Amino acid sequence: MELSWKRMYPWIKATESNLSLTDTLFRQTVQMIALMYGANCSLWVGLENGTLESVEVYATAGAEKHLRAAEPDALELADEYPLPELSHPIAVQKSRPARVPGWLQEQWHTPHLVQLDTGELIVPVLSNLQTDLNHLQHPIALQGSLQFVLILHRAAPLAPVNNVARSLQSLAHIAPQFAEHRIQGWSNEELESIAILCHQFGLAYSALYWRQQFERSRQRAALVGRIIHLLNSSLNPDEIVRRIVAELGLGFQCDRAVLVDLRDQHVNVLALWEQPETSLHSLNKAQADITVWQTVLDLFLQGGASHLQVISTDADTDPLQGWLGHLGAKSALMVPLSVQEEFFGVVCLLSYNQQRVYELDDLQTVRQVANQAAIALTNAQHYQTLWHKQEALRLQNNSLQLEIIRDELTQLMNRRSLERELEQLSTKAVWAIQTPFSVIVCDIDYFKLVNDTYGHLIGDEVLQDLAHRLQKQLRRETPAYRYGGEEFVVILAETALTKAVDVAERLRQAIRATPMVTNAGALDVTASFGVAQQSSMCDQHAWDVLHRADKALYDAKRQGRDRVIAL
Ligand code: GH3
Ligand code: MG
Ligand code: MG
Repeated sequence: MELSWKRMYPWIKATESNLSLTDTLFRQTVQMIALMYGANCSLWVGLENGTLESVEVYATAGAEKHLRAAEPDALELADEYPLPELSHPIAVQKSRPARVPGWLQEQWHTPHLVQLDTGELIVPVLSNLQTDLNHLQHPIALQGSLQFVLILHRAAPLAPVNNVARSLQSLAHIAPQFAEHRIQGWSNEELESIAILCHQFGLAYSALYWRQQFERSRQRAALVGRIIHLLNSSLNPDEIVRRIVAELGLGFQCDRAVLVDLRDQHVNVLALWEQPETSLHSLNKAQADITVWQTVLDLFLQGGASHLQVISTDADTDPLQGWLGHLGAKSALMVPLSVQEEFFGVVCLLSYNQQRVYELDDLQTVRQVANQAAIALTNAQHYQTLWHKQEALRLQNNSLQLEIIRDELTQLMNRRSLERELEQLSTKAVWAIQTPFSVIVCDIDYFKLVNDTYGHLIGDEVLQDLAHRLQKQLRRETPAYRYGGEEFVVILAETALTKAVDVAERLRQAIRATPMVTNAGALDVTASFGVAQQSSMCDQHAWDVLHRADKALYDAKRQGRDRVIAL
């Protein structure tokens, strides 16, 4: 093969306009250089930060073998599924170094061309070379930060050639660090062409990098735009939170996005989005344990951190790491969420296939969007009140249609109204914000006997009297509903179980205290009560709370009736 950088130059120029991913540029550059120089080639990228975290290695199979021969576990494979290489016979694999090799430490300190004792040629590529062309006019002033390192190694080196600095005038002009070293096995022409290629490669990288950045900021802006539109178009906080989480998941191409409420001992997943058509380990019960989130709480609550990036490691000393490991997630980004200036929880983006590192502008976007979710949650608080006000207005306006919402016999709210109320109460975002509600179910004891003994009309009178007594014990804004034939329901907003049991006990006493007045005379009547409190742990829907209260009622009947049982 003709050893001329001119063969590669047009290709690199073309990549600038044809490629859309720097990943492809890295792979193809390694392949082309390996082919052109007949050498094992690896390219070390992500060196700008000077830390191991962002470093990745693109290496031909030969180069990787060579690196591993020197130190077997020096590299961890980053490609889960190596891409099929159809156009080139040299497959390029992506890895992550397990530690910083000595030569890299040295390059970070003072980038310079060097040949290791083992024959590898270490070629540093500096960021200044790519971005500031003016510097090329004054090569002596070159002081760039290390961006890439290219390592070339020939299995059978050419006969040693003495590269004397003086004979490398043109090379010194482009890359002065080349001129000061004697390199074995590489001709001056080769070194010169490598220097030019590295420079061109750097330019192509910059062009792609900025194009990628531009495209990303365009997408981020579109994402924020969609969220703002959503906030303007929907009032339902559940829908807003659900869609915000979905937009984040899709926008950042992660596998799972979750909004977690961390204010309680019991952790509540408020909204969850998963990449469609993937079978992920289900979010297990472990995440419900607050100890899993202790690190997160420490950082956000005490530490005031603005975000947390977690990379899953094998060490599962930290429960959060253990949880991520169990799920199979490789990395997670957590951003805190405050509602009305109080810590609420986190938005968490999970990646399963890669140890994702988020850049500063990504973080800003996630934070911006998380703030919108916080606003939606704050609004949820007002939403419930608003709904009830609207409902009251609607009822006033439709007073003629009263029969639609009231039960004709008892004048209590009917079952349809109860269904509407339960639907409304199922808004999860409201659950997260407000104190839980409780449900009381009441059923008359041995009512069939009343009907059988005195007839249906007397039975109706009992129902009317009892309904009247129930509503009299309750505040105006707490309606009793006729749920079935002789069954009644009371929903107590923002009321804990113990308080609801007290109310139920008061209702029971009001029924049994004095006999019911009927045309058949005074009749002693009792009723049984079941009470349950809404809990994010057991309930998906307000209907679930009602069903648990029903179960409690069944227990009250079984235990002898005329009593209150809570579940
Ligand atoms: P328990 O203590 O187990 O609740 O016994 P019960 O007899 O109250 O329960 P059961 O479910 O056997 O009977 C309920 C009765 O309520 C049967 C039904 O005819 C009667 N009922 C339902 N709706 C009405 C109504 O609108 N008017 C009258 N008078 N009776 C009704
Ligand atoms: Mg019944
Ligand atoms: Mg009954």
